[in-house]
Amino acid sequence: GAAPLGHSVIPIANKLQDIFAQLGSSSTIELPQVAVVGSQSSGKSSVLEALVGRDFLPRGSEICTRRPLVLQLLQTKRKPDGGEEEYGEFLHLPGRKFYDFSEIRREIQAETDREAGGNKGVSDKQIRLKIFSPNVLDITLVDLPGITKVPVGDQPTDIEARIRTMIMSYIKLPSCLILAVTPANSDLANSDALQIAGNADPDGNRTIGVITKLDIMDRGTDARNLLLGKVIPLRLGYVGVVNRSQEDIMLNRSIKDALVAEEKFFRSRPVYNGLADRCGVPQLAKKLNQILVQHIKTVLPGLKSRISSALVAVAKEHASYGEITESKAGQGALLLNILSKYSEAFSSMVEGKNEEMSTS
Ligand code: GDP
Ligand code: MG
Repeated sequence: GAAPLGHSVIPIANKLQDIFAQLGSSSTIELPQVAVVGSQSSGKSSVLEALVGRDFLPRGSEICTRRPLVLQLLQTKRKPDGGEEEYGEFLHLPGRKFYDFSEIRREIQAETDREAGGNKGVSDKQIRLKIFSPNVLDITLVDLPGITKVPVGDQPTDIEARIRTMIMSYIKLPSCLILAVTPANSDLANSDALQIAGNADPDGNRTIGVITKLDIMDRGTDARNLLLGKVIPLRLGYVGVVNRSQEDIMLNRSIKDALVAEEKFFRSRPVYNGLADRCGVPQLAKKLNQILVQHIKTVLPGLKSRISSALVAVAKEHASYGEITESKAGQGALLLNILSKYSEAFSSMVEGKNEEMSTS
């Protein structure tokens, strides 16, 4: 499956990893975590799933996400025959590999029930899932329960306050990117997502507005002004998306088909003409990728000095072996090789060659 998120960042991250590996260290860049916030059923899980490009999250018209799901994407090497192997593994089921992504969804549901009960209860105890794939970037995504106001089922009377506290504990971290999800068929001024994101990130440096459900807006209305930031301005702006409807979910419509339908939706609506950079899941992925590339650029000077000191350490170690183990020429060649790889990666990052987004 194609993963729109990370395509342009993967080559940079790989280069850096290669450099560190040659220096005998695995330490590399730590990317920010991405969390989704918003009201219940605003489409948070749908957005995350579309970004990952695989079907595996429980979604639906009632409360589905009832525990925080910490989803760690981990890049694996492609198999020598070019084949792809993608699987998931839960922290609570160590050693068991899930190759069938619908089984992952069932296990998330079962594990949610185990901790939070079967009757709409909510728990702040995390479910931790790793997805291993050659197509992903090493990044952590967090799917969070939505904000609800009226307790249902086994929910306590203070459900809203509890969920808000839970969400804040994730998004208050300065390294967390916030996807603030609001459905287009509700009033942006009432957006729980923008409200809570604004509390955590008052300057709006790490909040992206996501407007879902553009396909089911009231007839005669559109999201043009929302997307242009004319209703509520947001520093990093908005992206509008069309995810699968409940009917699509029941009919088992694939993510791939949904992306095609989304593109067709925007193409066929003249009101979204000229807003191509604010429309569609691939654009959201692109925006995220640009932020990640920017992040890498800002941490590069620190990385550079770490690489330099690692180089010095390598050189010293070689010198201490003297001429017995390795010839001077060999050492020089090794260091040159490392340095040239480093500067090559560095220059392409600074020039931003990798910022273009591929959705294929
Ligand atoms: P969450 O509670 O915020 O995680 O929301 P979900 O992702 O579970 O979605 C809630 C419901 O809204 C599901 O039935 C989805 O199929 C539906 N939904 C989400 N996004 C869209 C959209 O863009 N268009 C339409 N028509 N339905 C959507
Ligand atoms: Mg959800």
